[in-house]
Amino acid sequence: MATTRPLMPQNPQLFRAEVLRSERVSPSLQRVTVSGPDLTGFSWLGYDHWFRLFLRLPHQRGLRLPEFEGGRWWQPYLAIPEDERPHCANYTVAGFRPAAAEMDIDFVVHHGPTGEPEGGAAIWACRARRGDELALLDQGLLFDRPTGASEVLLVADESGLPATTGILRSLPRDTVGHLIQEVPAPGDRRTLDAPAAMTVTWVVRDSTATVPGTAALTELRRHTRVDPVGYAYVVGESTLAAEGRRHLHASGLPKDRITFSGYWKHRLHEAA
Ligand SMILES: Cc1cc2nc3c(=O)[nH]c(=O)nc-3n(C[C@H](O)[C@H](O)[C@H](O)COP(=O)(O)OP(=O)(O)OC[C@H]3O[C@@H](n4cnc5c(N)ncnc54)[C@H](O)[C@@H]3O)c2cc1C
Repeated sequence: MATTRPLMPQNPQLFRAEVLRSERVSPSLQRVTVSGPDLTGFSWLGYDHWFRLFLRLPHQRGLRLPEFEGGRWWQPYLAIPEDERPHCANYTVAGFRPAAAEMDIDFVVHHGPTGEPEGGAAIWACRARRGDELALLDQGLLFDRPTGASEVLLVADESGLPATTGILRSLPRDTVGHLIQEVPAPGDRRTLDAPAAMTVTWVVRDSTATVPGTAALTELRRHTRVDPVGYAYVVGESTLAAEGRRHLHASGLPKDRITFSGYWKHRLHEAA
């Protein structure tokens, strides 16, 4: 199927950078702004441009990076002794200012069952200080709207908010469609730079006990009519992604017109 943009780069490039600042931009999102000479060469594609982020955790002596061989990074990464291996997680470019070579990354601040902060990357983001080192491996876009798609339906939990924000900002201004965006708290809703004919439904989770993505999935299931020549994009917790795709396909959207990605897996689903 024809697409309008380059997707994954053939030779993913590694960029080193340093933290400039870290600030809470809404109840559940911590924004870390990074910069460095390498980033002058970063070609931001907009949309949901994402990367693999490599971080030094407190117990590690320094930021030791794998020996990248072409596009291969996983085996060299595993070859680093566990104690020295950097933490690796996937993130989206929340904003990029080429003139200043500055990139914003929005981290969901998440908590374990007893309310303690969890996640190497999320904790790193909340503690990040000016000068902290990091590296990112460019991965390009997941968003892959077929040329001429009649409408665009976006569905995400909060981990997909940087992606949906970027997609709405990048879409041609005459795009028609709908965003279903789940967030943990009312204050996580934000002003979106969206095409006029893209409607937005914010779904605020009513309880911290609810598995993220469940509320967005319930809202999506209220949509029973889907244009078979449209396009859908469903990202976030793995059940939202998998069940969202199942619902959209059952409603008449061909599988090759649905991009879905389980960004992360909730512990209840991991156990299952
Ligand atoms: C293409 C892509 C783009 C992504 N972009 C972003 C982004 O811009 N911002 C963002 O915040 N996330 C984003 N994610 C999701 C992110 O990679 C995962 O949430 C990742 O697990 C976070 O790493 P961590 O080190 O904080 O937690 P981990 O060490 O990976 O996980 C520790 C524990 O936290 C739980 N957990 C992980 N993420 C969450 C969450 N969001 N909410 C609740 N519990 C969680 C896990 O189930 C696990 O039990 C993206 C994922 C992909 C695949």
